[in-house]
Amino acid sequence: MPELPEVHTVASDLKKHIVGFTIKKAAVAEKYIKITDKQQFINNVMGRTFTDVQRIAKNILVALDDGNYLHIHLAMTGQVYLLEPDQVEGRKAHVTLHLARDDDHKVLIFHDTRMFGRLVHTAPNIIDQLTGKYGTEPIARNIDMQALYQKLKNRKIAVKSILLDQHLITGLGNIYATEALYLAGIHPLTPMKNISYDKFVELMSAAKKVLEQGIKHRGSTLPDKSYVDIFGEFGTQQEHFNVYLQRKCRKCGSEISYMQLGGRGTYFCPTCQALL
Ligand SMILES: [Zn+2]
Repeated sequence: MPELPEVHTVASDLKKHIVGFTIKKAAVAEKYIKITDKQQFINNVMGRTFTDVQRIAKNILVALDDGNYLHIHLAMTGQVYLLEPDQVEGRKAHVTLHLARDDDHKVLIFHDTRMFGRLVHTAPNIIDQLTGKYGTEPIARNIDMQALYQKLKNRKIAVKSILLDQHLITGLGNIYATEALYLAGIHPLTPMKNISYDKFVELMSAAKKVLEQGIKHRGSTLPDKSYVDIFGEFGTQQEHFNVYLQRKCRKCGSEISYMQLGGRGTYFCPTCQALL
């Protein structure tokens, strides 16, 4: 499932490559349930020019020149491709947008096998709806660490569950939370209330580090190969995992332990990651 680095990669590539392009032709697959009125969607987007792309948590907002937006969420299996016109034939697509900027022609395709994600047309109030809905992003500047710690420090639940709760901390999914806990030397089951302020700061800094590294490597593509960027290329962060899907600890050589926590596969080093 795409986490912050993967969504960030898609959003920043879209910003770089589609701003200034105008939608010349649009099509929505009959079976695409997230757009109920297909003709209305087509009427709304035809002739509109993309003016900006921004990311709010794992949402991608593509601004149109009439003030409205395309709201994209990849959820589990959503994929966005930017293709040359001759690459389109035979591609699976739920939404297809033919774009042009002067003599430059591209095709933007959205496909989502499990349809938990979305690509929809939406009014400007989407920005207010999404802003404030999510917790602190570890890569944000000027985080009030004291305030965040005060909010969390009495929680009895496992610290990993805190990291995965998007209303508290945003951007970490299973992979990056697992990696951040390893870097900070904290066992995933440690109750949040047992973590000192200094240790918490260390954890947030580890979370920032793994997310930034993930962005630098254009995301993680797991063996299922479900994540690709808008050009169909894999990310390479999986080559830099310290603990996720690993067998031996890179620091101490111990065998990496595996368990299920909240239905998610969790990896940790029994020696380096102390249960506090
Ligand atoms: Zn170790």
